[in-house]
Amino acid sequence: MTMRTDYCGSLRASDIGREVTVCGWVDTRRVHSEHLAFIDLRDHTGIVQCVVDEKLDLRSEYVVAITGVVRERFEGKGNDKLATGDIEIGEASVELLARAEPPPFPMHERTDVDETIRLRHRYIDLRKSRMQRNLRTRARVNSAIRGAMERQGFVEIETPMLIASTPEGARDFVVPSRLHPGEFYALPQSPQLFKQLCMVGGIDRYYQIARCLRDEDLRADRQFEFMQLDMEASFVTQDDVLAFVSEAIKDAVEAITGERPADIATMTWREAMERFGSDKPDVRFGMELVEMSDIFAGTEANVFKVDCVKGILHRGGAESLGRNAIDALTDKCKRWGAKGLAWFRVGEGGVLDGALTKFMSGAELAAVPERLGAEQGDMVLMIAADRRTVNHVLGLLRLELGRPPVNEGGFHFLWVSEFPLFEAVGDNGRPVPAHHPFTMPHPDDMDKLDAASGEEYLDIRSQAYDLVLNGWELGSGSVRIHRPEIQSKIFELLGIGVDEAQLKFGFLLDAFRFGAPPHAGFAFGIDRLAALLAGEENIREVIAFPKTQSGTDPLTNAPTAIDPAHLEELGLRLLPPSV
Ligand code: ASP
Repeated sequence: MTMRTDYCGSLRASDIGREVTVCGWVDTRRVHSEHLAFIDLRDHTGIVQCVVDEKLDLRSEYVVAITGVVRERFEGKGNDKLATGDIEIGEASVELLARAEPPPFPMHERTDVDETIRLRHRYIDLRKSRMQRNLRTRARVNSAIRGAMERQGFVEIETPMLIASTPEGARDFVVPSRLHPGEFYALPQSPQLFKQLCMVGGIDRYYQIARCLRDEDLRADRQFEFMQLDMEASFVTQDDVLAFVSEAIKDAVEAITGERPADIATMTWREAMERFGSDKPDVRFGMELVEMSDIFAGTEANVFKVDCVKGILHRGGAESLGRNAIDALTDKCKRWGAKGLAWFRVGEGGVLDGALTKFMSGAELAAVPERLGAEQGDMVLMIAADRRTVNHVLGLLRLELGRPPVNEGGFHFLWVSEFPLFEAVGDNGRPVPAHHPFTMPHPDDMDKLDAASGEEYLDIRSQAYDLVLNGWELGSGSVRIHRPEIQSKIFELLGIGVDEAQLKFGFLLDAFRFGAPPHAGFAFGIDRLAALLAGEENIREVIAFPKTQSGTDPLTNAPTAIDPAHLEELGLRLLPPSV
């Protein structure tokens, strides 16, 4: 038995006549006369009106238990905005459990409150229905994911927090060691190396809802610490991994929306770049990038005498985009790396109108609107440059013009496969890895590892894949290298010498010498998934105790200075603060 018989938000007409006790916080109170007051009592399930027939000194946010009899509200006094609006608790007596100071910000939902104040008093903010809903959404996501992984034979294993560095490529948070002064643990950027060791250890299918820490600048979709569904499996292919993770995602979405999403489509990285100009395409809307290089192959127009010309069609844009808007878009395209933006209004009969038409041939003027399916009133926007720049700039322009708000258009998941193995070539001619260095090259590109040089490295594909939701990267994974000769080859290409490899990942390489199964895995961010499922743009809205954008916690004041004696014990001495 608890102190209550019912939750505030659960009472209905069917409870009329029952004596109940509800507990919670005073949401509002209206005093009618010296002896008659209405109290709206709130708990995490909602609000119920209580009519109290005694003299009381109650204020907002006081904590009380109220006992009374559920009765119908008087004719015309119902409140259809409240789930409990047909009833009230009458003849109520109140037991005061705790007094409360006035809350530092209004409790009513619609007021915008400065984030620092919200976070300083997060425990009060958490009482609001938005945070209650979001945190419970998140808990249901976690629970659905656990269920799905366990049903598929995955074992939950906890990996350590105090470790040596991991190879995710961000900055580590470090923890000084008292027993080994001058030495530091790193906090895990991910459980990557441990989950691979679990595979060598015969665990076969591992998962963990893992806390990961990366010392990177914070953004709306990034915190220092975040949670991932992390998984790894042995004797599986890429397709198996995608199927395992898809199952968890579908269960999570179904748990929140009640609907099971369709099978998640897969698109190669190359196709994503060509059609959407992004490796995390938002496929909720079209406006795809359309190839036009062939149209301009023999052009006389200097702007189009380049490697690549592509365009997008903005339906109705001839009217909606005025001159100022186009100038602003042109400036953005320049900032994103293009020389300019070629734009045309589409007139009657598909005739193009724009400053560049005088340099174009009749065939070009006819082919462009035809290729795009343009109609009168549309706007054609084109970029001419090298292929990378064209895709990059048009991809951003597409988002700028077409992206729906975060909570519109449903949930469009997409697998993006065959990511490039390398993302750049350094000044020293060495390729820079796109994922961590244990990512298996694509089987069809294996022989290019020896043959490639310079920019050719960028064409080598890997067996790495991402999961994307509505244009947000939810997570990444790959088939891993489990054969030492391929691993040595990759280290050699990356310029990681034998000693350095041994120093950084020696324990993993050693483990691989004792019989490593082929294995592959994945990790996706639970904060992002929960935020999108809750219709929130900022992941802080689905985290109980997040940090501010500047990485502080106004509630506990972290980070804080530590005691000089503690520093001494750790063998640390601070430099004077730099100004
Ligand atoms: N450890 C990787 C990450 O956190 C995911 C993976 O490859 O499994 O991005």
